[in-house]
Amino acid sequence: MALGPLGCVTLDEIEAPTLPGNDWVRVETALSGICGSDLSAVTAHDSFTLEPFGAYPFVFGHENVGRIVEVGPDANGWRVGDRVIVNPMLACLQRGLEPCAACQRGEYGLCRRTNEGVVGRGPMIGYNPRTGGGWSGSFVAHPSQLHSAEGLSDEVAVLTDPFVSALRPVLLHPPEADDVVLVIGAGSIGLLTIVALRAVGFEGTIAVLGRYDFQFEKAEAAGADVLLHSRDELYDWAARLPGAVAYKPTLAARFVEGGPSIVYD
Ligand SMILES: [Zn+2]
Ligand SMILES: [Zn+2]
Repeated sequence: MALGPLGCVTLDEIEAPTLPGNDWVRVETALSGICGSDLSAVTAHDSFTLEPFGAYPFVFGHENVGRIVEVGPDANGWRVGDRVIVNPMLACLQRGLEPCAACQRGEYGLCRRTNEGVVGRGPMIGYNPRTGGGWSGSFVAHPSQLHSAEGLSDEVAVLTDPFVSALRPVLLHPPEADDVVLVIGAGSIGLLTIVALRAVGFEGTIAVLGRYDFQFEKAEAAGADVLLHSRDELYDWAARLPGAVAYKPTLAARFVEGGPSIVYD
């Protein structure tokens, strides 16, 4: 359905986007991730809701690593051949606008100017017709979106965007040494949350609720201690934690009071 004649995605030959300004660069895609938001859009789970923020047609691909192949005359500090990781957000700075309140606080992910400025409609590379996206040969980016990928393989560098999505909640709500942590979900964000927890030095228990064998292999390698294969296993584990009390109402599903002290969902 999603990829058939009624789907919203097609494979097309298109012109590569031109530089929107003299300070922009063109990046040739090396690898471009497939985000959960992309899958939701492709399968029309999110796309109807997000229509007011979008513009069509656009090229998917916002988790990008690549190589600079064209540099505008005012794009200082970057050269053709540089390998870069690209922050996809198109906020006030990239649009050539005076910074809004969110951008002034550095929270450009909350910038609401998703329609204005030199790149027009579409909140980020990979959802913006003017910039293109990474599921194509090349796209354009503003120098403020670029980070050097030197020293990182493409396969590692392309995980920067999902890793940051996992790292931020850990930094905003870091566990204490004696916390018992539960990570719900062992997809890329769940697995990278485990990586982030260990990267910030947490040495306590991490349990993860997953679904597939390959997820548990990765979760264990990332530092998870307890692998939970089902909600039943989760309840049994949580009920055995110090201070936890398990309840089984007659008509409702069982539940646990207490249990893990921090949950990343
Ligand atoms: Zn994403
Ligand atoms: Zn802004």
